[in-house]
Amino acid sequence: MSGKRILIVGGVAAGSSCAARARRLAEDADIVVFEKGPYVSFANCGLPYHVGDVIEDESSLLLVSPEQFQERHAISVHVNHEVLRIDVDAQTVDVRDLAAGTTRTETYDALVLATGSKSVRPPVPGLDLPGVFTLRTVPDTRRVKQWLSDSGATRAAIIGAGFVGLEVAENLTELGLDVTVVELQDQVMPSLDPPIATAVAERLQARGVALCLGEGLAGIEQDGGLRVSTTSGTVLDVDIVVLGLGVRPRTELARAAGITIGSTGGVAVDDQRRTSAPGVWAVGDVTEDRCSVTGLPRLLPLAGPANREGRLAADVICGRDEAFRGVQGTAVCRLFGLTAATTGRAAKELSALGIPFETVWLHPKDHVGYYPGARTMTLEVLYDPGSGRVLGAQGVGEAGVEKRIDVVAMCIQLGGSVFDLEQAELCYAPQVGAAKDPVNVAGMIASNRMRGDLPMASWEALGGDELLVDVREVSEFRREHIPGALNLPLSVLRDRVEELPTDRPIWLYCLSGKRSYDAARALLGRGYDAWTLPGGILSWKALRASR
Ligand code: FAD
Repeated sequence: MSGKRILIVGGVAAGSSCAARARRLAEDADIVVFEKGPYVSFANCGLPYHVGDVIEDESSLLLVSPEQFQERHAISVHVNHEVLRIDVDAQTVDVRDLAAGTTRTETYDALVLATGSKSVRPPVPGLDLPGVFTLRTVPDTRRVKQWLSDSGATRAAIIGAGFVGLEVAENLTELGLDVTVVELQDQVMPSLDPPIATAVAERLQARGVALCLGEGLAGIEQDGGLRVSTTSGTVLDVDIVVLGLGVRPRTELARAAGITIGSTGGVAVDDQRRTSAPGVWAVGDVTEDRCSVTGLPRLLPLAGPANREGRLAADVICGRDEAFRGVQGTAVCRLFGLTAATTGRAAKELSALGIPFETVWLHPKDHVGYYPGARTMTLEVLYDPGSGRVLGAQGVGEAGVEKRIDVVAMCIQLGGSVFDLEQAELCYAPQVGAAKDPVNVAGMIASNRMRGDLPMASWEALGGDELLVDVREVSEFRREHIPGALNLPLSVLRDRVEELPTDRPIWLYCLSGKRSYDAARALLGRGYDAWTLPGGILSWKALRASR
């Protein structure tokens, strides 16, 4: 769109990305950004770490200033300018200069809505009290830091155990505060499957964070400090409250202009980020996306999609025939040295949507065990039982988790299957991986199962007429085993195989699933009805802890 006027509403992740890309593609376009806040292009993902003084200097969060946008990219950025109204027929917007108190009308050839999202605020009393904060902007962060130093706060309540709430919880804990997290769901990080989330909860508790799970916020009162009440009757006396209850798309402007809003509440767009109004695009948190796993509409308020959508809208506006591939929900969070990551859909989401899936659980090390410092992680990989197409993966551990989830994320984006994971060629040296990377192993387990080489029982079905056999060594069995299990170590299985019945299914487990696989193959080869239980006793414990 050379020589045309591109107006962008909202100048953070999606808006800034769109503006910069448009300039690179159209040197003669007139590109204008309106941002109602005082800053553009700031790193909101870094805000919790500025609260915790990990990022000491506030200016590090301000990535590009309006002056730099002008000097480097010839883009006019107007901060403290709120777009009040869009006239899609006249192709104009009314914009208010919040500092001057004046309103003017601007024309556009292409308009990009990048208005982001707003914090969810439930209708409970006390959310406007001094000492109650949300954390979305640089000024919010400044206010939180000011309150912490002025009040000498020692006790904090975080309402909501999503990624952002927990990052704030970690940072306040590291500052020395006693932190309690209140969460309506019965687990932290509600987007994760329970065994993964439980590992996160255990780490939080081990570092002193108290959890009130399954309890909603009932209200906040001022009583010397702040008194937080939950729906279960818990009362917390604290000095600061941070709300992390999630976000909703900020669609008021689009709605008022008659632009179609999708079923999930975000602005509806096509694969080229076009809205229902000619000449109007929408990008970032304000939009509803297509889930590339299910094909269903989905909200995904994350920085990665926002940046890529902004860039792609600029491509299309500037005449390129690009299409967005949809979102799949790849996210990561690191808390107290533990990383939890996810891509695609969780098992609980697939169940709720009625989408059939099989699960692989594994507990590999991030690098070969013989090289010092190897750490065990838990991985869950979900796939379609008919085709093997990968539908999702989650992981938790101290090292190497995000690498594995990123690999699976790319596989999902390309429509790949467990057979692709089995064959993936990945980095290996003793310090950083294994010749059979955890991703390969996940693919091998699932592929074995799909080819019929590895009958797999499910932990949920345990307790039928099967004989449960623990194939670990006697010393391991003595330390801990699943009640009712018989111990027949793999090392003596072939010599003592006649001790096993031939008229009952035999369900085998070991520590993590490897020895039970070998045992199952040995028994299947002898005509036994042998099955293995996924992920061994480590998975059994993780599932039990999460119930
Ligand atoms: P926003 O960044 O919200 O920007 C929208 C802008 O539009 C706002 O500045 C707003 O003032 C402006 N605006 C709205 N209406 C108007 C109007 N009418 N006129 C003018 N301007 C307007 N994501 C991750 O992927 N990883 C993370 O680790 C991560 N951490 C986060 C931590 C925090 C504390 C927060 C708040 C978010 C985090 N996110 C993270 C989410 C990520 O920051 C958002 O998904 C991303 O910023 C969305 O970009 P956006 O441009 O769509 O919206």
